[in-house]
Amino acid sequence: MITVVGAGPAGLAAALSAANAGESVELIESGARLGGQYWRNLPNSIVVDQQALNHDFQSGKVLREKVQAHPNITVLLNTQVWRASHEEGISILHTISGGTTREIRTNKLILATGAYDRTLPFPGWDIPGVMTPGGVQALLKGNNVKAGKKIVIAGTGPFLLPVATGLAKYGVDVVGLFEANRLRRWIWQLPALLNNISAIKEGASYLHTLRKFKVRVQRGYAVVEAHSGSDGNLSAVTVARVKSDFSVIEGSQRKVVCDVAAIGWGFTADLSLAGNLGLMQQVSLLDGGTYVVVDEHQGTSQAGIFAAGEITGIGGSKLSLAEGEIAGSAAAGSETNTSKKRKLAKFASALLRTYPVGPNWQSWLKPETTICRCEEVTLEIIEKSVLDLGATDSRTVKLFTRCGMGMCQGRICGRSVNDVVARISGKPASDADRVSSAARPIASPILLGELAQIPIVD
Ligand SMILES: Cc1cc2nc3c(=O)[nH]c(=O)nc-3n(C[C@H](O)[C@H](O)[C@H](O)COP(=O)(O)OP(=O)(O)OC[C@H]3O[C@@H](n4cnc5c(N)ncnc54)[C@H](O)[C@@H]3O)c2cc1C
Repeated sequence: MITVVGAGPAGLAAALSAANAGESVELIESGARLGGQYWRNLPNSIVVDQQALNHDFQSGKVLREKVQAHPNITVLLNTQVWRASHEEGISILHTISGGTTREIRTNKLILATGAYDRTLPFPGWDIPGVMTPGGVQALLKGNNVKAGKKIVIAGTGPFLLPVATGLAKYGVDVVGLFEANRLRRWIWQLPALLNNISAIKEGASYLHTLRKFKVRVQRGYAVVEAHSGSDGNLSAVTVARVKSDFSVIEGSQRKVVCDVAAIGWGFTADLSLAGNLGLMQQVSLLDGGTYVVVDEHQGTSQAGIFAAGEITGIGGSKLSLAEGEIAGSAAAGSETNTSKKRKLAKFASALLRTYPVGPNWQSWLKPETTICRCEEVTLEIIEKSVLDLGATDSRTVKLFTRCGMGMCQGRICGRSVNDVVARISGKPASDADRVSSAARPIASPILLGELAQIPIVD
């Protein structure tokens, strides 16, 4: 039996290739439907043209149906793995579903837990109405809900384009689309781009649709402050022209009126379970993100555990699919073909080089800007813990200030705290510091009543 956690592109492909190789597969997914972030879809009761929200909807539908119909695959939806451990070659997964806890033991595990939006703190980012592109898109794709009426989309990365396109198609007024990086960065990556004509076509089709709705991508601009109205909700954002290091070009600031601002800076891998299982992780030189280390066949540092998709490096749905397929075959002991993955990985690297996050985003911060939203820790408090109390790494800052100790356990602020502490202390964050900020003993919140159901073993 092979257990797969996560039913996004990577997990679906892994489950199918393992099942096709004759293995029994248990596919665990915390969401209500198969598809993950990319193929997020609506329940059958809501009838809308989902193809309009995802140009690739049909291939996702086909894959989901194959997985659901496969006699070797058991799908467990609405099932969250909240804790995992690995002892003597056996992975132990603690799941919760509908208030009931269960323990699953497996000697072949494929982790495909994906990623979530990377956010950067800035003045006003905690005002209701400031969201992430992924959040806005999840509402639209997964719930048929428009997050606002006048939406600003900003940050960096190609993901901003499908989000803006989906919103515009659904009648939302996209009042601004601000990409912090400039188009000329692509010139250095032209060979990778020309090797991936389908990606060029996809990008061009978004731009074509956006032009029809009179939405223009304004490159070299970032949202640097958000403002609330008398009701406390978002009323406008300040947009500024930024240099390649993200410092603001003085005099370029202007206000844009909106009720929602969807701001994202790429993605952060969800390493909660990978950390529980003790998988070796490393900090990527390409984007500074932390990822699970895998070999050519998606094998991790722990025997019997494979990893695929965004947790091994941000690379998009096609790379996730290719890695999932390899992981499934490798776990089943079958031949793997890694040539497609290698080609897609080159393109993924080019994307990361084209859309970097400049270090001077920190110049947008004010002393009173909240960095950790759960525990309401401001920049000023972090500065004091470094300059007055002598903290030199994020872990010590966490102990002094509680940043990263709240409900999200550092998922949102962890990486920003690493960067802020590094700047204030003048000492780059060590890889160990970055990896430890993604480590959390409990992978997702669990109720005390549910925790109490679990038998205590000495
Ligand atoms: C919000 C969001 C929206 C995106 N939309 C697009 C898009 O429109 N177009 C595009 O090209 N790319 C999009 N991306 C990028 C996209 O994530 C990837 O390209 C692709 O989906 C990655 O596939 P994956 O299988 O690695 O992860 P995912 O698709 O993220 O799938 C991971 C799955 O694992 C499940 N999971 C995680 N932890 C647990 C757990 N502990 N227990 C049980 N289940 C768990 C999650 O619920 C999820 O379904 C989006 C990313 C995000 C974060």
